[in-house]
Amino acid sequence: MTTAPFPHMLAPLDLGFTTLRNRVVMGSMHTGLEDRFWNYPKLAAYFAERAKGGVGLIITGGIAMNRRAWLAPAAGTLNTALDVPHHRKVTDAVHEHGAKIAIQLLHAGRYGYHPFSVSASAIKAPINPFTPKAMSDGEILSTIDDFAHSAELARRAGYDGVEIMGSEGYLLNQFLCKRVNKRTDKWGGDIHGRMRLGVSVVEAVRRAVGRDFIIVYRLSLLDLVEGGNTRDEIEATAKALEAAGIDVLNTGVGWHEARVPTIVTSVPRAAFRAATAQIKRVLKVPVVASNRINTPEVAEDILAKGEADLVSMARPLLADADFVNKAAAAKPESINTCIACNQACLDHAFSLERVSCLVNPRACHETELVYLRTQRKKRIAVVGAGMAGLSCATVAAERGHDVTLFEAASQIGGQFVMAAAVPGKEEFRETIRYFTHELERTGVKLELSRRATKEELDRGRGFDEIVIATGVKPRVPKIPGVDHKKVLTYAQVLNDRAPVGRKVAIIGAGGIGVDMCEFLLHEPNVSLDAWLAEWGIDVTSSVEGGLREPKHEGPRRELWLLQRKPASKRIGTGPGRTTGWVHKRVLERAGVHMLGDVEYVRIDDEGLHIRHDGAARVLAVDNVILCAGQESVRELVAVDDRGRPTDPRFHIIGGADVATELDAKRAIKQGAELAAQL
Ligand code: NAP
Ligand code: SF4
Repeated sequence: MTTAPFPHMLAPLDLGFTTLRNRVVMGSMHTGLEDRFWNYPKLAAYFAERAKGGVGLIITGGIAMNRRAWLAPAAGTLNTALDVPHHRKVTDAVHEHGAKIAIQLLHAGRYGYHPFSVSASAIKAPINPFTPKAMSDGEILSTIDDFAHSAELARRAGYDGVEIMGSEGYLLNQFLCKRVNKRTDKWGGDIHGRMRLGVSVVEAVRRAVGRDFIIVYRLSLLDLVEGGNTRDEIEATAKALEAAGIDVLNTGVGWHEARVPTIVTSVPRAAFRAATAQIKRVLKVPVVASNRINTPEVAEDILAKGEADLVSMARPLLADADFVNKAAAAKPESINTCIACNQACLDHAFSLERVSCLVNPRACHETELVYLRTQRKKRIAVVGAGMAGLSCATVAAERGHDVTLFEAASQIGGQFVMAAAVPGKEEFRETIRYFTHELERTGVKLELSRRATKEELDRGRGFDEIVIATGVKPRVPKIPGVDHKKVLTYAQVLNDRAPVGRKVAIIGAGGIGVDMCEFLLHEPNVSLDAWLAEWGIDVTSSVEGGLREPKHEGPRRELWLLQRKPASKRIGTGPGRTTGWVHKRVLERAGVHMLGDVEYVRIDDEGLHIRHDGAARVLAVDNVILCAGQESVRELVAVDDRGRPTDPRFHIIGGADVATELDAKRAIKQGAELAAQL
């Protein structure tokens, strides 16, 4: 007899009046679709795929209960009966597939990006230009009523419950902490005063919705900001929320303004599980673990050890709608794992663009990017098994085409193989593992260590369509002495592991230059304890906000990170909007010299000669590493003066198409979109 896979994760949870079919919660993620009612059919399709994929409970992106609660102007709201039919589209679509859905009621407080934001006290957030107004007693009472009114409308719209957003530094979290709550009335003062708003909201919502409606409260277990709460204060709040009538306690980590990473790829998996285990010990209601849980193995381990009753995964379900079903079918290796890059989800959300997923471009585009079975099977050659080629080959084969994939290297993955070598980017291996599985599942004929020739593509093998995804090669800038023995390309360092000295100059401060710094400064697979110590995190919150003095080891090397643009132009941040500050902080801590406005003069035995600030300087380095961007590799295809293939059977995608600003998000999307049309 075989044991069922992931028994704890797949066990139902009886809440008394309703049962969740398993322990997987799709955590709240703002997609942008919830802000406009005409997008609700798309939102419904997005959630329906996740419900069909087996998730137990879905929590929507944040919805405001009144205008002052908006995160940004005209954000999604549920506060009149007219809103109900729109939300009904979403709830019906989810229920059709057996999942439950709760609406997240979010009051942004001082994170509201508009001039009429409010908070406990009139203290501006460091990440928002607008100063909030301190709420009057009357405004507080009417806000409580608004939460209750929205919850009651949510029930009418078919939701199974609400999640009251009380973490990540939003309004209820602002009231809960001394950092923002300087009030001397009954809504401020000690923890009992500061928790009064959150507890009153729960009581009012419970009165409005009755007993048989799920109330989840998301509480911050670790504020990670000065003036945050301690363990005693957090536990007292959790117990009061339980007494006020919540059914489930969800957990949050870190305010948005915290300068400690909580979800980026370099955060070790399930880094904050100990905080959840700690709160679970003092509560009777089920507790949800969250943050950097991205595989069924990690989820199962947390649940099996009794550290939580449920696990929340938001981004992993963007990456793979069928996450739960694949785990239940004992095929975890077939899951398209979230690599925590933030590039298509949070980076989009923060630029007010529709959210998607780097490894799954269908996320939030379910009705637009559709992979239909082909009516006419074609013979397709894809040249290059980097991200663009892999995406194109597997989608084309999935649609029923006969696909051959040529790869000159002995393994698939292209630039991702190099990325995965960078400490803190170990997750990128998961995408290579996923595509390895997909190639096999979809029947792509993979020819490794095989350089396709122009002749066989042109005529020899009778291909109907030829996709050139041959990627890029490192650019070698024209600097005198660039052929000196101390000069290396980034590929020689990351791929071939060429030895590198103690003093290093890096030419080019884009994404790869920053990655190179991380590679030269850190060991891979840092332990959880070392990572927590490095960032000064006390997961038990025995100190205020869970913040201690960070412990740094001396840097392993002395690095210069250089660019010709002024230093003010994003030096040391890499391309990510929500991840750049983490890179920059790491580099600053390691004492990396980041110089802009650099002119490269020559490289010789003395080192790298530059002009900077109007003066000549020699950087006496052991090595100079070129991270100066890339050039497209596309010699297998004839193009016209506009760069378009002269033979209509040829298509160029990924870095072979455009090398500048090449990124995996564009490559995977372009590959999938082309394959959907072939
Ligand atoms: P990049 O971002 O275009 O940066 C290239 C760097 O080289 C720039 O700093 C540029 O700065 C410099 N450069 C360009 N031409 C040069 C020349 N002729 N001589 C000297 N310096 C020159 O390219 P990349 O760093 O190679 O990254 C490629 C792509 O991979 C990026 O678009 C990025 O999105 C992606 N990537 C993403 C991540 C991630 O974490 N998500 C990480 C790595 C890479 P100046 O022109 O000012 O000198
Ligand atoms: Fe995960 Fe990156 Fe996809 Fe966001 S874009 S869901 S972080 S893989």
